[in-house]
Amino acid sequence: MIHEILPVGLLQCNCSIFGDESSKEAIVIDPGDEIDDILAVVNRHGLTVKAIVITHAHIDHIGGAAKLKTATGAPVYMNERDQGLYDRLEMQAAWLGTEAPDRTEIDTPAREGDRLTIGGTDFHVLHTPGHTQGSISLWIPAENKLIAGDTLFRDSIGRTDLPGGDGRQILISIREKLLPLPGHAVVIPGHGAATTIGREKQQNPFLRGL
Ligand SMILES: [Zn+2]
Repeated sequence: MIHEILPVGLLQCNCSIFGDESSKEAIVIDPGDEIDDILAVVNRHGLTVKAIVITHAHIDHIGGAAKLKTATGAPVYMNERDQGLYDRLEMQAAWLGTEAPDRTEIDTPAREGDRLTIGGTDFHVLHTPGHTQGSISLWIPAENKLIAGDTLFRDSIGRTDLPGGDGRQILISIREKLLPLPGHAVVIPGHGAATTIGREKQQNPFLRGL
């Protein structure tokens, strides 16, 4: 499976582009910005985007979704509990002192237990609320990878002081949905360097006592 990680935008959100070599189908996760660069990767591999998946509705993760959908025709997947946040994209842009990008319809809800498949590889949706109410993570067993959005970082966890955040809930999500994954599972956070579940279990100061 092709997997490229592109840090995009002001806040360097990690956008993941997964592509199946034989079917040429692709999934793009968190196209926050710099859609031309994302499309260049897609085109370089000759891929067709089948799904645009949003881990949560913060502007740095969802900002480019409308533009990418227009360019590819692919449906947008997001957990519906973040719809309210997405409706306030203008306000989020104002926090960052930027202009609000175009908004799009969310085509398909992404819920706990859902699976997206490209070329026979399953992407499992885990609902991991806490950073926002609609935060999801994607577990790809065949690739041994977790796309963690802003729930779990190397040595840190997502902030919970923004609207919809809940400091107790994010720890429950991590304990019940993420830490049971294999220790050698590679974690790709929404920002910054990759890590593993095992490393974070041992070293992440926010997870002590979980
Ligand atoms: Zn966020």
